[in-house]
Amino acid sequence: MPLNLMHLPKAELHVHLEGTLEPDMLLALAQIHGISLPYSSRDEVLAAYHFGSLDDFLKLYYAGMAVLRQPADFTALALAYFTRVASQGVRHAELFFDPQAHQGKGLAFLPLLEGIELACREAASQLGLTSRIIPCILRHLREDSALRLVDEMLPHRDRIAAVGLDSSEQGNPPQKFTRAFQRVRDAGLKVVAHAGEEGPPDYIRQAIDLLGAERI
Ligand SMILES: [Zn+2]
Repeated sequence: MPLNLMHLPKAELHVHLEGTLEPDMLLALAQIHGISLPYSSRDEVLAAYHFGSLDDFLKLYYAGMAVLRQPADFTALALAYFTRVASQGVRHAELFFDPQAHQGKGLAFLPLLEGIELACREAASQLGLTSRIIPCILRHLREDSALRLVDEMLPHRDRIAAVGLDSSEQGNPPQKFTRAFQRVRDAGLKVVAHAGEEGPPDYIRQAIDLLGAERI
């Protein structure tokens, strides 16, 4: 009998919560919040996902984020993700999310964290799926924005698994965030970082040597 991979228990250790937004939820949330999108149908959204570079993808990724307006949207998004992957055998997931991408919409770190935690608790009790949350620093933004986010997160350090680094890599070397991640490590938190996707090998070295990343 062939091995059915769907039935094997799995851990998903690299997933961006905002990136799990499916076309149907994107369109539904846009309608609920009265946001106009450059897509009018599911097929148009799917067509837009034929991207050619990380930056092309990120443009779509940030456009999709516009429809996430309240903590309940994050709960619904995370629950939809957990439900989908539980049916594929995922038993543990560690979710990245980008708090700075939502600040401009008036969403602070804590309510977002609480919204996602609600879904995590539901996933544990209803699906038997354990999860951890990893907020990420957006590397295309300035260091002072990263430092402010770190200060906002540290009082809640027991509720997150690590702090990550993501977004556009070109021109945004890990060393830009040496001080931010020093604060993260001083608080006893683990560090993970995206490195070497579009940047040179030296960015991987920096992420390990300067930021203390334990997972790339
Ligand atoms: Zn990633």
